[in-house]
Amino acid sequence: MSELNLILLGPPGAGKGTQAERLRADFDVPYYAMGDILRAAVKEGTELGREAKEYMDRGDLVPDDLVCRVIVDRVDSAEARDGFVLDGFPRTVAQADALAGAVASLGRRLTAALSIEAPDEDVIRRLSGRRMCDKNGHVYHVEFDPPKNEGFCDQDGSVLVQREDDREETVRHRLEVFHDQTKPLIDYYARQGLLRRFDGTRAPEEVHGHIRATLATLRLEEEL
Ligand code: ADP
Ligand code: ADP
Repeated sequence: MSELNLILLGPPGAGKGTQAERLRADFDVPYYAMGDILRAAVKEGTELGREAKEYMDRGDLVPDDLVCRVIVDRVDSAEARDGFVLDGFPRTVAQADALAGAVASLGRRLTAALSIEAPDEDVIRRLSGRRMCDKNGHVYHVEFDPPKNEGFCDQDGSVLVQREDDREETVRHRLEVFHDQTKPLIDYYARQGLLRRFDGTRAPEEVHGHIRATLATLRLEEEL
């Protein structure tokens, strides 16, 4: 089987985590979500967590050198031998260059950059209603994807919380950061012929169907 080295791009709230959860069920490759890794580090009080916290609370990006180290180690691990799905990394051109270097040094290449796109008004509405389970980060929405028992995760029963950085002022700042620092990556990957774009305003199942169809085509092309 060919490798599957994927990255998910998109503004906060576009549905990257939601789609990643579905891709994990489709393909047996590890999933690395930078936000989840950083939140776990903050909770555990590791050095990475202590350094990252103030940036995350403000809705700013954590410095490139801190996040690059984490991802380069993951990509170079035995479990990622057949591929990986990266969610929320890269978010700057410097991070994209670091990832390109890491992948090339392993003699591999990216399969595709999946860009999930949605306008600011939609993502603001999504993030204000987003709830996350305290234990494993499973994602819900009070209106669009409510859990069966209000306030509790369907999958592990843990309590659902609103992320501190999902409050409206911080969300607006995170969107500015996205437009300023992450959006240039859309051109970056388009120039390399790796970009695949998806309409993130569609229902989750529909977005997932489009991604699956695109990946199936890419794999067929690879085999030809
Ligand atoms: P991201 O990882 O890009 O920040 P999430 O996957 O966490 O985005 O989704 C943000 C919020 O929007 C969550 O509350 C999620 O339940 C909801 N959501 C995700 N995809 C859709 C969709 N296609 N339509 C409506 N709501 C969605
Ligand atoms: P969302 O799901 O809303 O897109 P994430 O959970 O991916 O948000 O990220 C939450 C926060 O973690 C970001 O606002 C930022 O402070 C930090 N972060 C996540 N990924 C990166 C990255 N690649 N570079 C720098 N900071 C990051």
